Amino acid sequence: MYIGRFAPSPTGPLHAGSLVAALASWLDARAHGGRWLIRIEDVDGPRCPPGVDRVILDQLAQCGLHPDEPPLWQSARGSLYEQALATLQNSGWVYGCACSRKQIAGALQAQGWQSERHGELVYPGTCRAGLQGRTTRAWRLRSTLDLAGMQDLTLTWQDRRLGAQTQNLSREVGDFVLKRADGLWAYQLAVVIDDAAQGITDIVRGADLADNTPRQIRLQQLLGLPTPRYLHTPLVLGADGNKLSKQNGAAALELRDAALALRSAASVLGLQVEGDTVAEILAQAVKRWQSSFGGMMPATYSHK
Ligand code: GLU
Repeated sequence: MYIGRFAPSPTGPLHAGSLVAALASWLDARAHGGRWLIRIEDVDGPRCPPGVDRVILDQLAQCGLHPDEPPLWQSARGSLYEQALATLQNSGWVYGCACSRKQIAGALQAQGWQSERHGELVYPGTCRAGLQGRTTRAWRLRSTLDLAGMQDLTLTWQDRRLGAQTQNLSREVGDFVLKRADGLWAYQLAVVIDDAAQGITDIVRGADLADNTPRQIRLQQLLGLPTPRYLHTPLVLGADGNKLSKQNGAAALELRDAALALRSAASVLGLQVEGDTVAEILAQAVKRWQSSFGGMMPATYSHK
C-alpha cells in the first residue's frame, strides 16, 4: 500500500515552488492508487506565524489537493521525539554538546578545516568524548559508522529522478543536532519519526531537501525504522537564479486562478496539461504522471 505526504513548514503561505512539491506528492500517490497525507511541520514555533497553517491548508484545498486523513501537527508530538532521543542516548549514538556556534567556528578555524556546507558548520567533534564539566546545550548524533568515531560513514541511496546518490555523512555533514540549544526539535528527527509513524512509503519533495536524505536514512537505520522511496522534484528558481523562497521574495500563491497555478506547477514537472478546471487539470496530470515517473517505478526501485 502506497502512502505519501506533503509536509510544509508553515513559515509562510505556499508559493509557486512549494505548490510543485505538493502537486508532485499528490500526483504520485494518486497515480499509485495510494493515500496522501498532510503534515504541518511546525517544530520551529518562533518561525511559524499563527494562522499560516490554515492558509496553507486552504490553498491546497483550492487546488483540489485534499488529504485522505486529517492533517497532523508536529508541535503536538514532542513526546514521540523525546522517546526516540532517549533510545539513541541509551545506545550511545547521541551525546550532549556544550559548544556555541562561535566556539565551533573558532575550533574549525584553528584546525584549518573546510567547514561550511550551505551555511551549516561541520561539527569538529569537540564534545564527542565528554563535556569536561561544561553544560549540555544541544544533543548531537554521531555521524560515523562506529560509536568510537574511527570509521567514516558513506551512505548511498536511489532517488527516483536524480538516480544514485552518495554522501560521506561523517565529512560532509558531521555529527548533527537532534535537539537544539533552544530546546526545539530538529527537522531531521521529527521528519523521520513522523514518516515512520504515518507509515509513509514514498517521499516526494523539493530537490533542495535531497542532501538531507542520508541523515534521515541514518536515523531510520539506528531506530530500526523502514526507509521509504525518495523522489526529489525540480526547483522553481527566482529572478535571482536561486531557489524560490520567502527569503528571496517569492509571492504567496494568489489563488484567484487555481487552474493557472496548477498548470504552471505541472509544467515544472514536465507535464503538459490543458483544461480549465482544477478537476480536469488534476485528472490529466495523473495520467501524464503515470506514463512518466509512475510507469518506471516498479522496475527500478525496490521498497525495503
Ligand atoms: N518541512 C520541510 C519543508 O517545508 C519539508 C519536509 C519534507 O518534505 O521532508 O521544507
